[in-house]
Amino acid sequence: CKRLAAQLGLVHVSTGDAFRDAVARRTPLGLQAKGYMDRGRFVPDELIIQFVTDRLAEPDVVARGCLLDGFPRTGPQARTLAAAVKIERFVVLQVPDKALQTRAIARRIDPVTGDIYNLTYVPPPADVVARLEPRQYDDDAGTFQTRLDVYHKHIRQIIPSFGQRVWMVDAMRPPDAVFGDLARCLEAAAGAVAAPAAGGAEAAEEAAPAEAPPQFCCAITQE
Ligand code: AMP
Repeated sequence: CKRLAAQLGLVHVSTGDAFRDAVARRTPLGLQAKGYMDRGRFVPDELIIQFVTDRLAEPDVVARGCLLDGFPRTGPQARTLAAAVKIERFVVLQVPDKALQTRAIARRIDPVTGDIYNLTYVPPPADVVARLEPRQYDDDAGTFQTRLDVYHKHIRQIIPSFGQRVWMVDAMRPPDAVFGDLARCLEAAAGAVAAPAAGGAEAAEEAAPAEAPPQFCCAITQE
C-alpha cells in the first residue's frame, strides 16, 4: 500500500500503523486501543472513525487525496466514510484463509520504520533483518483466527456502501503482478478525476459528481 500510494502521489493512511504507533507512544488514543489490539479485536468504531475523520481533514490529505489502508472494516465505518468523502475505489485483495495464515506466520515488522515484510514473498533488506519482529496478533493462531472470523462477518456489511466502486483483486499472484494491476487501475481512476471529460459523460459523472469534495480517496482492505 505504501508503494502504491507513493506511485500515485497519494498520502498513505494506515489505521493499523497509526494505532500501533499510538500504543507504542502511550498516547491517550493508544492507551484506549491497546487492550483491543492485544486480543486481536477491532478498536471500537467511535475511536477509529474519529481518528480517520480528523486525519482526512489534515492539509496533506485535503491537497493530495489518500489511500486508506485497513479502513473501513465495519459497516458503520464504511457508511461514515462513504457519507463523508468521495471514494473512488474500494479494493478487496482476495486471499484464501489458509494462505493468509501462512503469510501471517512469515510476516515481520520493522519496529523503527513500521515497514512490513514477508520472509518468503517480500524479503527484508539484510541491514534490517536483525531488528525485525513478528506482529503479536499474527503469530498467535487463536488470535489470528479471531481476526479472520471478524473480517468475514464484516466485509458483507461494507461492500454495499461502495457499490460499483468495489474491485475484487486476486492477490494469490506474485506481489509485482498484483501491484502492477492495482497501479494501472488506480492511475486510471485518478486520471478520470483529474480530467473527467476525457472518459465521456458516464465516466465524468462517475468521477466527479457535483457534491463531491476534491480529494481522491481509495480504500484497501485485505482478505
Ligand atoms: P492492521 O495492521 O491493519 O491489521 O491493524 C492492526 C490492528 O489495529 C487491528 O487488529 C485492530 O485492532 C486495529 N485496527 C486497524 N484498523 C482498524 C479498523 N479499521 N477498525 C478497527 N480496528 C482497527
